Amino acid sequence: MITIVPDFYDQFSCKAGSCQHTCCQGWEIDIDEPTLYRYEQIKGEIGDKIRQSIIIRDGVFIFQLTDDDRCPLLQDDGLCQIIRTLGPKKLCKVCAMHPRFFVYKSELELAGLGLCCEKTCELLLERDTPLRFCIEGTDETMDFFELLKMTDIAKYLPRDCASQAMSILHATSSLTVSQILRIMELTEPINDSWCQLLAKIRQETTAGKLTLPLPPLETWPHDQQQAYDRICQYILYRMLPRLSRWHFGHLADYAKMNTTFIYLAAAVTGDLPESLRLWSAQIEYDTDNVEIILENMLK
Ligand code: SF4
Repeated sequence: MITIVPDFYDQFSCKAGSCQHTCCQGWEIDIDEPTLYRYEQIKGEIGDKIRQSIIIRDGVFIFQLTDDDRCPLLQDDGLCQIIRTLGPKKLCKVCAMHPRFFVYKSELELAGLGLCCEKTCELLLERDTPLRFCIEGTDETMDFFELLKMTDIAKYLPRDCASQAMSILHATSSLTVSQILRIMELTEPINDSWCQLLAKIRQETTAGKLTLPLPPLETWPHDQQQAYDRICQYILYRMLPRLSRWHFGHLADYAKMNTTFIYLAAAVTGDLPESLRLWSAQIEYDTDNVEIILENMLK
């Protein structure tokens, strides 16, 4: 099987103790059976600590989070006690693979790094060139539309698909701020930061400081244009397997609407990477929320 990766994939390394939004807080981690078996054999204090930290919930073994929602193996210095004491090979599958994702389309494995990780957001936004994809293990690279041609996606597009698809993406959402907020408010909030962000966008809109639609992307400064283009195409890349259920144009509208929302979030916070990370944790990492948005964009 051919594996495709985005142009920044190989540059990933976890920020560990310097990460401001560690994935070792706020997420419940499922422990796979082979790892569980290995954890049962570990001797000494660390073995006891690991075993005492595991509970079963709904038939799944997980690490029981502390009262402040942290993994019990996360040390005060932001480092993982399992990695420090036993090495990274002793991590369970979920921790070892995070933030990598793998989705499948037309005999292709589409791999990437999830945007709920702050390092991924930094890497995606670090370059001011168009997003490119690589065939893993080769020097071959392609842009998003050459990637579409490698899949059977072309058959879902109207005639003259490549140029049409290009123009679909090279535009921001035609929805108003209120329409976008109405849809976002239907999703289940992940934390207070998300609710505060929505309230701030609404407040600035009411005060007349935020309006949509935005001017065409080609009129934006080069670095801004590239940043939002990269975000939009990367959001759509992860959504491609949903083409079996949704029309390409609808998924493109989903990518544009979410990119426009991220623009609004960055406008009120002044922090694009963090706006992107929070959006991903709220929307992309909750499949129910993704479906809520896809369905409500049609209403
Ligand atoms: S969110 Fe990313 S950078 Fe931060 S601890 Fe997790 S994997 Fe590392």
